[in-house]
Amino acid sequence: MKREFAVIGLGRFGGSICKELSEEGMEVLAIDTEEDKVNEYKNIASHAVIADATDEKVLKELGIRNIDHVIVAIGDNIQASILTTLMLKELGINKITVKAQNDYHEKVLKKIGADQVVHPERDMGRRIAHSIISNNILDHLELSDDHSIVEVKAGKKMIGQTLVDLDIRANYGCNVVAIKQEQNNEINVSPMATETIDSGDILIVIGADKDISRFEKYLV
Ligand code: ATP
Ligand code: ATP
Ligand code: CA
Repeated sequence: MKREFAVIGLGRFGGSICKELSEEGMEVLAIDTEEDKVNEYKNIASHAVIADATDEKVLKELGIRNIDHVIVAIGDNIQASILTTLMLKELGINKITVKAQNDYHEKVLKKIGADQVVHPERDMGRRIAHSIISNNILDHLELSDDHSIVEVKAGKKMIGQTLVDLDIRANYGCNVVAIKQEQNNEINVSPMATETIDSGDILIVIGADKDISRFEKYLV
């Protein structure tokens, strides 16, 4: 099933979304004010047009109303991003995803009804920071302001021990929700307390950030 998307703003972020959606076989309308940006996406997106998204008449002419999900990836021009989002909302777009530049921008976007607000630079910075703290941290996903899920390589100290031996829940207040086993290439969901950790195993751990932070330091 083909779904229709529009990406407004073809910088690195919007451009990358546009490429990936197109490669996945989705219909994408790509929009930017800059001619060279639009030319870059002519052969990638289903349609690429030069247009100013802050112009309501232009949005209507493009038939944006019929598009299911619009991604607003206008960067530095916060005013244009807010105005565009507001008009898309007024036009009744089903789903609007917007890239925010900062926390104030995010607050405004949420107030005017953006369905999803993303902070790619901030979030990627945070994820990378966690993998820098410990080489064992493979990924970090924020659940809320103070809870996360992390993917960690089993540290040397863990190999051959069971979850009971390590007593991660009592010692660090974190829960191991799954273990990816390298040996049989399987994911053990909700592992038993008697599960032994082998070399190469990857643990998926959920917990409060302060607890995960102590656990990360133990892994170093
Ligand atoms: P990135 O970091 O993703 O490369 P950025 O956050 O630095 O991008 P900008 O380069 O400021 O963001 O903007 C992204 C794109 O949005 C640019 O190509 C710009 O031309 C386009 N853009 C800005 N304003 C509008 C507008 N009103 N309508 C359509 N496109 C716009
Ligand atoms: P981001 O998308 O992460 O916000 P960016 O990729 O658009 O950033 P810039 O805004 O050009 O990149 O640069 C990021 C920061 O690096 C800016 O705060 C800028 O002041 C700083 N910076 C740029 N050049 C230098 C330099 N030579 N020495 C120190 N700081 C620099
Ligand atoms: Ca940027």
